[in-house]
Amino acid sequence: MTPEIYLDGNATSPVLPAAIAAAVRAMEDCYGNPSSSHSTGLQAKALLDGARRRAVRLLGVGQGRLMFNSGATEGIQTAVLSALCALRERRQAGEAIGTLLVYGATEHKAVPEALAHWNRLLGLDLELRKLQVDSDGRHDLQALRALLPHTAMLCTMAANNETGVLSDIAGIEVLLDECASPAYWMVDCVQALGKFRLSLARSRIDYAPFSGHKLYAPKGIGMLYVREGAPFTPLIVGGGQEAAQRSGTENMAGVAALDAVLAALEQGGVFRSHDALCTFRERLAASLRRALPGVVFNAAFEHSLPTTLNFSVPGLSSKELMDVFDAAGVRVSSGSACSAAKAAPSYVLQAMGVPDWRAASAIRLSFGPLADEAAIARACERIERCGAALRASGLIAPDGSLPVQDGVQQLGSGGACSWLVHDAASRSCVVIDPQPEFMDRIAAQVRGQGCTVLAVLGTAPGMDLAAPGRALNVAYGAGDTFGWPAADGLLALGGQALRRVLVDADGAQQAVYLLGRPDAGALPQSAARHAFIGTLAPRQLDGLVHGDTLLCAASDAQQPFCSSLHASAPESGGSQGELHLDAAALQGLLRAHPDALLVDVRESHEHLVGVQAPQGGKVVSVPLGQLAGQIPEWMAAPVPLVFFCRSGNRSTRAAQCLRRLGYAQAYDLAGGLALAA
Ligand code: PLP
Repeated sequence: MTPEIYLDGNATSPVLPAAIAAAVRAMEDCYGNPSSSHSTGLQAKALLDGARRRAVRLLGVGQGRLMFNSGATEGIQTAVLSALCALRERRQAGEAIGTLLVYGATEHKAVPEALAHWNRLLGLDLELRKLQVDSDGRHDLQALRALLPHTAMLCTMAANNETGVLSDIAGIEVLLDECASPAYWMVDCVQALGKFRLSLARSRIDYAPFSGHKLYAPKGIGMLYVREGAPFTPLIVGGGQEAAQRSGTENMAGVAALDAVLAALEQGGVFRSHDALCTFRERLAASLRRALPGVVFNAAFEHSLPTTLNFSVPGLSSKELMDVFDAAGVRVSSGSACSAAKAAPSYVLQAMGVPDWRAASAIRLSFGPLADEAAIARACERIERCGAALRASGLIAPDGSLPVQDGVQQLGSGGACSWLVHDAASRSCVVIDPQPEFMDRIAAQVRGQGCTVLAVLGTAPGMDLAAPGRALNVAYGAGDTFGWPAADGLLALGGQALRRVLVDADGAQQAVYLLGRPDAGALPQSAARHAFIGTLAPRQLDGLVHGDTLLCAASDAQQPFCSSLHASAPESGGSQGELHLDAAALQGLLRAHPDALLVDVRESHEHLVGVQAPQGGKVVSVPLGQLAGQIPEWMAAPVPLVFFCRSGNRSTRAAQCLRRLGYAQAYDLAGGLALAA
């Protein structure tokens, strides 16, 4: 396996070895309950008090409160609850309070969600108002000045988790100072801890939540600062722990671990200096520029944490970038929240007004202040390897020398599909059903391969073929309404040929294209290996194709990849037998069937970048887009096929497709390479 390079520090960090040791000590030797009055309890109490004293010193808490809790989400709830309870009391006492709850447009979701939740539960009925940010991601201070006289609570963050953008906390403070009755102010300090010095009691910040796991402590431990005199209402009551501010027996292993991290911060020499971190950022940025032509950084470095780089690359989706980085063992995160099927654009980048393509395709690379020279050098080397793999697979900067593979290629899955049929020897191809969303990709690929596009064909009448035809410099001109240039004959593609058949489908004519090896100038039904069927249903293909002809549709939402007249319905799951193999079952299968093939269905750049495969079998790379092209060969000489990918998602879909087509010995590696590690 490729050793991992972890560059997702803003999501969470690994745990500092000294913190692990401290947690283990707390569990083995100092396991008492700090509320117990016997000696074991007193030892635990001493640990807790010592940790608090250190945090108070380090964060400049002064006479304010500093309580341990489970993390920032809890701290945010406590801060919002405290401020809103005080506002309710003041209003009930007849005092005029602000009508707005103002939060930065790029806040972590915990903030607006907590404001809305407690506002509703407490029946305050104040108005939530987003404070816009400028193109650098910094708050619009003019707008804030206008809002502040009406603001009851203000929530801003010290540094943004997606972009690393630093807020102008001093500038906001000046505006609050100008107010006769300033709003309660929470500053989310989660991404600031350990990255710059905090002196909380010197500021007018009322509440500051922290999470230990963003700075090398474990998950489940955090802190909340509350300014001296700021209103406070406990979120959790019970046994009166933490001076009755946060009940529940303390998480002593977490406190000990966090204390070890804070000790490292206090003593110095463990975490890198700001200047060293800036140098690391420059080196990573230079590698990204070399590897990924046209890369755009989404936040200006001068206003950002040196440990966060948020970038987009023209022509590449965040999924493609994430996949290739992950295959290279580099863990980064998509700058946007991903649903299973589609990446939703990042609301943080949208708030900054970056173009849609950048908001939808951003990647966040973030490292921690423990990073060292060697790790950054390894990261740079891997980034450049990713760039080389993306170039080799034609996804970036193709130069006309990309290899052309014979056969059928599918673009898109789970919805609209376009199909390409290639002939390697003549470097020519035909495009079928050119869906607009794939045109840029098709054009880039064709350019990269130096391929001649013989025809652009549609299966349905009225499809726009002229614009794709022009974009692809179609060799035979526009053809008829379906783009067919070959009169009644065959369209030759090297040793293969396409035959067009017009079908009357409920009163409208549709075209079906049969692909196979012609015999004496004809392509009979029995020779059709593939049929491009547009939106026709199998019952409309009677007499046109044979039972095993692979049916390639204009949308594969119902039947992923391809089907056939013999195929079983998708919901039946195909032939019986266990589909998912765990590592032990895989080894058993490979012992019993040395001829079994391990099929990597990841994209070719993922395959190229890290030769990661389960041990013991012959490995071939067949990206999902080439599955339909490859299946007839497997059908002709069946051997057990074990599909694998990163997480088991893509491989399951591939194995299910084969099973539906009647291929009994198709399996997938359960959980993918991520679990095989
Ligand atoms: N605030 C910011 C800026 C964050 O980055 C996070 C975590 O991603 C949170 C709040 C929530 O922290 P936690 O999930 O540790 O409670």
